[in-house]
Amino acid sequence: MTEKNDRLYLDHAASSPLRMCARQAWLNANQFPANPSSRHQDGMRASDLFSDARATVKLFLGDDYEVVFTSGGTESIILSVLGALSPTFEDVHLVATQIDHSAVLGLYARLEQLGVTITLIQPTRSGLIRPQDVERALQPNTHLVCMQHANNETGVIQPVEEVSRVIRQHKAILLIDAVQTAGKIPLATVDADLMAVSAHKFGGPRGIGALRIRPGLKLAPIIMGASHESGLRAGTENVAGAAGMAAAAEECMRNELSTTGKERIKQLRRYWEKGLAELEFECTLVSDAPTLSETICILIPGVRGDAVADGLDLLGISVGTGSACHASDFSPSHVLTSMGLERDAALSAIRISFGLNTTEEEIDRVMESLDLVVRRLRSIAGL
Ligand code: PLP
Repeated sequence: MTEKNDRLYLDHAASSPLRMCARQAWLNANQFPANPSSRHQDGMRASDLFSDARATVKLFLGDDYEVVFTSGGTESIILSVLGALSPTFEDVHLVATQIDHSAVLGLYARLEQLGVTITLIQPTRSGLIRPQDVERALQPNTHLVCMQHANNETGVIQPVEEVSRVIRQHKAILLIDAVQTAGKIPLATVDADLMAVSAHKFGGPRGIGALRIRPGLKLAPIIMGASHESGLRAGTENVAGAAGMAAAAEECMRNELSTTGKERIKQLRRYWEKGLAELEFECTLVSDAPTLSETICILIPGVRGDAVADGLDLLGISVGTGSACHASDFSPSHVLTSMGLERDAALSAIRISFGLNTTEEEIDRVMESLDLVVRRLRSIAGL
């Protein structure tokens, strides 16, 4: 097994490395013992840190909106869905998509038991949700439309602006799951009633996220009781988490979202694609639609993606797979099968997701390792 320091981490879409600035801000905030609700000076200092963090996250997400801190993407989405649909789940229609994150597909199943009717839109073979399909799914009692800004497995960027225009003609609320795009695409100008983000996907701490809310939109709380977060989330605030998230957001605005940052990411993407095209075995991108440059989902016919990922892992490289593994049962990804991929093709997927600090030398190392692993797996399979 390779030493920890030699490891190459290319699974940013699952969770990205904690930025130094976020770590510093988190440590700094934790030096203050206080609860931000306390009246003393320490309490006020904690309260100031929390307000500063909110102001920065608002700049990141759109200054005209409200921002509520949550524990992450899942909670932000669940607060949106339950908060927008409550108190009655009868005669309520929800539009969502088959490629939604598994964290929320389970929620939809529960909502159906409570009486909500749900239309799950199927993506195209490229993994796109078509605005006309959203329009067709709308009913007079559609309260909420949920869709991702970009998919976590394929990286495919959804036409959220067009969907938003379609929904504006209707009275439904639009929730955008921007967990994968925060720090990669500017969000402040994306028109949506609700937007969910998570700090650990853009170099902030795990366990903190935010929900952006259009002013005036009323949601019911899911953690109710005390009046924290405008009554939407009772409980002592995670000041250090918010400070870490804000520091990461600030760095993204300065680096990843700058013209030079975006150009560098595109350059790295081109280098990845060139390397993949030069491999001696067949290896195709899962989609030809516009995709996040940082997320590369490839299919390698004849081998299993989990076996490739395990082989790379032994060589010190962490990547993701398109399949969800449950002990001995390896199911193909619901995202890839909903795009119409056959089971074997879906099981052959791996996802490489990188960041601004990834280098060409590291990409070369992945290509060499991929070559080695896939050749071995193919020779074992007699191909
Ligand atoms: N939505 C998407 C698209 C995601 O990729 C994830 C995490 O993988 C989530 C939601 C859930 O976010 P969190 O891990 O912060 O709960």
